[in-house]
Amino acid sequence: MSQIPVAVLGATGSVGQRFISLLDHHPWFQVVALAASDRSVGQPYAQACRWILNDPIPKYARDMIVVPATTETVQAKIVFSALPADLAKDIEPQFAQAGFAVCSNASSYRRADDVPLLLPEVNADHIQLVEQQRKQRGWSGCITTNPNCTSTGLTIALKALDDSFGVKKVFVVSMQALSGAGYPGVPSLDIMDNVVPNIGGEEDKVEWEPRKMLGKRDGNQIKLADIGFSAHTNRVAVTDGHTVCVSVELSNQVSPEDAVRAMRDYLAPASARDLPSSPRPAIEVRDEADRPQPRLDRLTGKGMTTVVGRIRRDPLLSLKFVVLSHNTIRGAAGGSIYNAELLVKENLL
Ligand code: NAP
Repeated sequence: MSQIPVAVLGATGSVGQRFISLLDHHPWFQVVALAASDRSVGQPYAQACRWILNDPIPKYARDMIVVPATTETVQAKIVFSALPADLAKDIEPQFAQAGFAVCSNASSYRRADDVPLLLPEVNADHIQLVEQQRKQRGWSGCITTNPNCTSTGLTIALKALDDSFGVKKVFVVSMQALSGAGYPGVPSLDIMDNVVPNIGGEEDKVEWEPRKMLGKRDGNQIKLADIGFSAHTNRVAVTDGHTVCVSVELSNQVSPEDAVRAMRDYLAPASARDLPSSPRPAIEVRDEADRPQPRLDRLTGKGMTTVVGRIRRDPLLSLKFVVLSHNTIRGAAGGSIYNAELLVKENLL
């Protein structure tokens, strides 16, 4: 098929750079516009952007001139939004109203009843909310969202357990990478030799967003999953990759071996299994006592696979384990691109 024109809003930031990198040679999408703030507008991308990824800036993007994030200056079919949430709140609906499909990383619309909060390997069917959204809001475009980067790997692992054994309660402690705070993010003197035990608004997101994604679609609505969550979220001196220690109470008593099997056997819904960005596998379970580790495991499955390890009995609840997910790939840009591929597959563009 001919390539679909796409644009990136917030193209110079931590997530925006991942988009630029992941969209290089994408089989379906061609980047035609890069947008950012007044600070960057009018400059060639390579000049506007302080590039922080290991791979060099893709050739296609280097000389593109950065434009403002408006519907007049951006011509595309799909818009990937890596804007700060306060700006996304106003700008994303303008694009949906003008007929663009917005695939957003921002938190602004994750809780809206008619906006899908998507992890295609978990809740691909929630994408059908887009039809309701179009009717309700009277626009021809749409907004889809992906969850915050800590809920991402956590929810994928919980889905495998919930399908097989029923999840009742979840207690988590996160160790979150610096790239999750954007660029330049946390000052070096705050984080070197340190752990910061507070990330504004994050605990609330981790305690709510998985309930929407694990919820069932009931006509035009999502019924939130009846699962209790308690989260502690911490910033640590790791560049990429969020690690989450999880304890769960299950409806049925199961052995760690049963849980390992359920996670290893877990498959995405059929519609989300064979897209260009589908994680292969969805979940990888490590057997070593000291894995997963962010430095060693974050690029599993090109950064799209959720890595789980240390599945064992929990003396208070049922089981405990560790989840690792690449926050700017599976937890942000890669996740948004996967959502866009699902929109195309479901003929919802
Ligand atoms: P970031 O590094 O601070 O980047 C912000 C981007 O927004 C930059 O490109 C910036 O452009 C642009 N921007 C700022 N003001 C603008 C304006 N008025 N008009 C147009 N563009 C503007 O932030 P980030 O970490 O990439 O996060 C982006 C979004 O993704 C946030 O909503 C965040 O919560 C969400 N998210 C992040 C992660 C993660 O792991 N980092 C994961 C999931 C979700 P300039 O460079 O020109 O200022």
